[in-house]
Order: sequence, then structure tokens, then C-alpha cells
Amino acid sequence: ISGKGGTGKTSLTSSFIQMADNCIACDYDVDASNLPILLKPQKVSSHDFSAGYTAHIDQESCISCGLCAELCRFDAISQEHQVLPLSCEGCGFCEKICPVEAITMYPRSSGHWFEGVFNQKQKLFFADLRPGEENSGKLVAQVKTRAREIADTEQTQLIIADGPPGIGCAVISSMVEVDLIVLVTEPSRSGFHDLQRVYQLMQLRGI
Ligand code: SF4
Ligand code: SF4
Repeated sequence: ISGKGGTGKTSLTSSFIQMADNCIACDYDVDASNLPILLKPQKVSSHDFSAGYTAHIDQESCISCGLCAELCRFDAISQEHQVLPLSCEGCGFCEKICPVEAITMYPRSSGHWFEGVFNQKQKLFFADLRPGEENSGKLVAQVKTRAREIADTEQTQLIIADGPPGIGCAVISSMVEVDLIVLVTEPSRSGFHDLQRVYQLMQLRGI
């Protein structure tokens, strides 16, 4: 990790992976995974990632009382009683207050995670969070969990992961249950500033 994008994390991680005798590779930058560009894996499986919900209105049951549109604090329901998916935060409040139970919450697909193979037999786990979706930390946890399962099954001792930039949820999730973190920076004021922030985050988490 680095706290800042563009410092060379992916290049360094890729080098470590190529030098390791046997390891499982992961890309925890679920917003913009670049490790697959360097390792060129062949995708062997793709999995939907759902985190959060979207409201749906059954138009046949709706009595057009307008309560949901009036009370949704995210303005996610139109005056025509249609849910605006990009605005819906999935809080479920409208489902609770609809007098005729016309609203149902459905899991929302937020992205995908993938298993790939490179160098003929090495595994790479990576993901793709849809633009604007939240829950990047959960998606990192999903990728990490699967990588650890495979590592246990195949008795692989080493998982090497490329971390995300910043100090947000994805970075915090990346830090969970790791043995070693490598901080990568660049000789610039912003690089040093962001390095200090991510280092403070590590200290807060006792790493
Ligand atoms: S609260 Fe229920 S009945 Fe009223 S407009 Fe919304 S969906 Fe229709
Ligand atoms: S789930 Fe929440 S955000 Fe979405 S439409 Fe209902 S009240 Fe609005």
C-alpha cells in the first residue's frame, strides 16, 4: 500500500510475485485492478458480488399514496412511484412504511470477483467493483477469503497482494490478518503526505 496512487505498487508487487517460488497472487484494488494487466491471467471463474439492496415497487399493488416518494430522504422515488436505482441507498425505509406492502428490497449486484491462472498454474484473485458502488472493503474481504481458502487447500504458504490507494475501507480491509505490509512511496510532497497518513492508519490498527 502507499496511501497514494501511482507510486509503483503494482509493478513492485508483480516483481515480488514473479520472484516467489510459489505463491497465490491477489489484487485488492477492487476499484481499478491493474495486476491482471501485468500478469495476464486466464480467467477460470467469475462470481457475482452483491452488497446492499435496491427497492422495487410492485405497480399492481401500489395505491399511489405518494408516501414513499415524500419520505425517502435520498429522493430515490419519482412522483410516478418508480425507484431510481442510482439514487436508492437501499436503506429499506420505504419498505417499512408502505401501507400496502408494495415495496420489496432486492440484493443489488455491486460487481464481480474472479479467479485467474497465470504462469500456467499460479492463481490470481481479483475483482471489479461497479463504478459508484460502495462496499469496497467487503469485496476485498471476499477476494481475501477465497485466496486463503485456496492457500489452505493447496498448502501454499505465501499470498502476495497488491493494495489499493488511499486510506479508505478497501485499504483497511486489506490490512486485516496480514503478516507484513510494504509501504511504497515516491519522492514528492504529496507522496510523503499520503505515506504518513497510511502509516498512521497502520499504527491505529496496531500493525
Ligand atoms: S408508499 Fe406504497 S402505495 Fe404508496 S406510493 Fe409508495 S409504493 Fe405506492
Ligand atoms: S430503500 Fe431507502 S433510499 Fe431506497 S427508495 Fe427506499 S427509502 Fe429511498
